[in-house]
Amino acid sequence: MRRLRNVKIVATLGPSSNDYDTIRALHESGADVFRLNMSHGSHDEIRERHRMIREVERDLDSPIAILADLQGPKLRVGSFADGPHELEDGAKFRLDLDETPGDATRVCLPHPEIFAALETGARLLVNDGKVRLRVDECGGDYAQCTVIAGGEISNRKGVNVPDVVLPLAALSEKDLRDLEFVCQLGVDWLALSFVQRAEDVHEARRLVHGRASILSKIEKPSAVDAFEEILEASDGIMVARGDLGVELPVQNVPPIQKRLVRRCRSAAKPVIVATQMLESMIESPMPTRAEVSDVATAIYEGADAIMLSAESAAGQYPIEAVTTMDNVAQEVESDPTYTEILEASRAAKRTTVNDGIVAAAREIAETTDIKVICCYTESGTTALLTARERPRVPIIAMTSLRGTARRLALSWGVDCVMTGKLERFKMAVVNAARAARANGYADEQDQIVVTAGVPFNVPGTTNILRVAPCEERLIWATDPE
Ligand code: PGA
Ligand code: MN
Repeated sequence: MRRLRNVKIVATLGPSSNDYDTIRALHESGADVFRLNMSHGSHDEIRERHRMIREVERDLDSPIAILADLQGPKLRVGSFADGPHELEDGAKFRLDLDETPGDATRVCLPHPEIFAALETGARLLVNDGKVRLRVDECGGDYAQCTVIAGGEISNRKGVNVPDVVLPLAALSEKDLRDLEFVCQLGVDWLALSFVQRAEDVHEARRLVHGRASILSKIEKPSAVDAFEEILEASDGIMVARGDLGVELPVQNVPPIQKRLVRRCRSAAKPVIVATQMLESMIESPMPTRAEVSDVATAIYEGADAIMLSAESAAGQYPIEAVTTMDNVAQEVESDPTYTEILEASRAAKRTTVNDGIVAAAREIAETTDIKVICCYTESGTTALLTARERPRVPIIAMTSLRGTARRLALSWGVDCVMTGKLERFKMAVVNAARAARANGYADEQDQIVVTAGVPFNVPGTTNILRVAPCEERLIWATDPE
């Protein structure tokens, strides 16, 4: 679906977006990628959401990426007997392995490995860091704590343990089951939570076996430290600011976001900025000024995508949240400062013929009055490299592979059009011109840039750049075979 912006929007599905009409309206108002959060919902519910997304995709004939987000080794407390409890500063609170529902004095923490690793003085952060506990005394099956910062604790709230390196496997038993389930269902992106090292990504890749691209969520201090190797091992990155801002001082998050976005851009790998982007819109139809500014900042940085979590999954205004992001994006991207910032931070490193061709395509498109760059791509690589150039003109990725078209829905500025298998270059130009006209990117009298690899159907061989007329009669008359 043609968008009037480059940045992509990821919308998480959940109880507020659980029917065909809402999912369709979310896509029509701007969501390019849907996220299935494996932390919530049964396999039956996930299967049903997946089916509805594919139905919308078919009905609107518009490639949509599905991103399945594995819970990862996320630690959670058990449940309480009688609803949430307010913990007061200075109170005593106990965590243990007893599965009896909790109360105002204790709750189960069903993770023996934490008790084995905990030390006196370590901090336990509950409910996104809202409640802070300090360990006074601990054993193999309990930790007696003092409440340092009080707040509400309730069923299955998350727990972060930033001071202790936990000997956790990258993928839990649940993750292994979920991974196989979503790979069989067919997803385009698989997100890994709480990645700590590149080996975690390699491990997942062995299990995924080419069935999905892999996106690493950066939400632990150790992942920030090992970022270069994790980026190398991954196909994409999420700056997961929720947990990152719990595990690290919250003021460390903005500089990390800036650095990660730049590094991903120069590696030509898509990067999502996530969490609390429009948090107040869970309950309000209007965002705060600060939220709008945060969304704008991620766009000015050149992120590939911005994400909605609870806003679209569990909030009261899912469509309004998407529309807000779309409006902010259109406004930011029409600001000349946006173009200046993107161009000043363009990655200069180019080593291959393909790198050279995409740079030339941008250069030509911007020097003359070219309306769109159409790139033929089977693996998606040429589209990613073209997007890395952050050109001022739109990019159409022409591909015969539906998986490639879907995957690229996450990438900055790329619109995907499905095309048949091609034998002749002349047909490639004709098809590109048709796609440009049909999708409203160019008129008969305009010119376009087409990049492709000849011979066709050999991956990684982009070697042709053609400036072509959009008028079909002229293409037939002038183009080489
Ligand atoms: P989550 O990840 O929503 O799965 O926790 C994102 C984040 O931590 O920011
Ligand atoms: Mn997280």
